[in-house]
Amino acid sequence: MQSFLSYLSAKVPSARILEYEPLSKHTSFQIGGPARAMVLPGKPDDIPELLRCAQEAGERVLVMGNGTNLLCPDDGIYAVIIKTAVSFAGAWAEDDTLTADAGCLLSRAAVTARDAGLSGFEFAHGIPGTVGGAVVMNAGAFGGEVRLVIRSVDYCDTDGIRKTLHCHPAMFGYRRSPFTAHPELTVLSATFGLNPGDPDEITAHMDALRCRRTASQPLELPSAGSVFKRPEGGYAGKFIEEAGLKGCRMGGAMVSEKHAGFIVNVGGATCDDVKRLIEHIQAKVKFRFGVDLECEIRFFGVTS
Ligand SMILES: Cc1cc2nc3c(=O)[nH]c(=O)nc-3n(C[C@H](O)[C@H](O)[C@H](O)COP(=O)(O)OP(=O)(O)OC[C@H]3O[C@@H](n4cnc5c(N)ncnc54)[C@H](O)[C@@H]3O)c2cc1C
Repeated sequence: MQSFLSYLSAKVPSARILEYEPLSKHTSFQIGGPARAMVLPGKPDDIPELLRCAQEAGERVLVMGNGTNLLCPDDGIYAVIIKTAVSFAGAWAEDDTLTADAGCLLSRAAVTARDAGLSGFEFAHGIPGTVGGAVVMNAGAFGGEVRLVIRSVDYCDTDGIRKTLHCHPAMFGYRRSPFTAHPELTVLSATFGLNPGDPDEITAHMDALRCRRTASQPLELPSAGSVFKRPEGGYAGKFIEEAGLKGCRMGGAMVSEKHAGFIVNVGGATCDDVKRLIEHIQAKVKFRFGVDLECEIRFFGVTS
């Protein structure tokens, strides 16, 4: 690995390489041991080149956005992790189209759309991830969803070959996209089709959604958002609350008192604490209601 990293820094000099970087510093859960190497691209073209070099050398690569939907192992991940959420990543609006780099934060993309008088991306403003992560997860909130506005995705494979996918809503499902089951594909950018709108009204809409989020979610504590997908017949949070699990704790991981669909890190939580709590919740909810809760959060670096 060491010689590969030296090769990488010569081949892609604009990228920053951090060795043994704690993943807890890069995930909203604040959980995770060291990544053998974390690579921060210095420009958009770095990503395909980094992937190509790793493929050539047979090194394992994982891609993360802003780490807001991830649970990482306590003993870290022996791989090269490319983090796309970097400062150069931006968004542009032209006519009715918003284009954004994969690493652009959704909040920034939503503000770019608003400033260009484009409506339809407000739902994404308060989701703390990147455009790439949102495409992969088909992120959604308050009735809005990536699949309803996405037009195309530029992506590349492990050889660094770029391709474009023209999207149709039917290609996406609940927290699922054509990329969800294909970690070998990396989203580089995406375009979204939006409608003309008044910037003041768009701001008011985003503010209203922020208030709803602040009132209902434990944003003051580290978490990875909703832990479980919405099961048939109700909301995960409601089943968990009715099973009496609010406040239930394993080590530093606790079912939020504010929103039972969230597990929060109340201090020093480990990946193992969260996993044990997830299993406990799943068993209790299955026993009480016969409902299977499936995880929405991704177990990063775990091969299944
Ligand atoms: C407080 C809080 C509130 C949240 N609210 C919502 C909500 O309302 N709605 C919602 O849908 N989600 C919500 N989330 C979850 C999360 O923000 C979303 O799933 C988001 O889309 C993840 O983006 P990310 O950049 O952080 O991706 P990451 O967490 O970094 O990665 C998620 C997955 O996408 C993959 N990935 C990321 N970028 C790329 C890329 N460029 N190419 C290929 N694969 C990639 C990763 O490998 C991983 O499998 C919330 C999370 C938190 C902490």
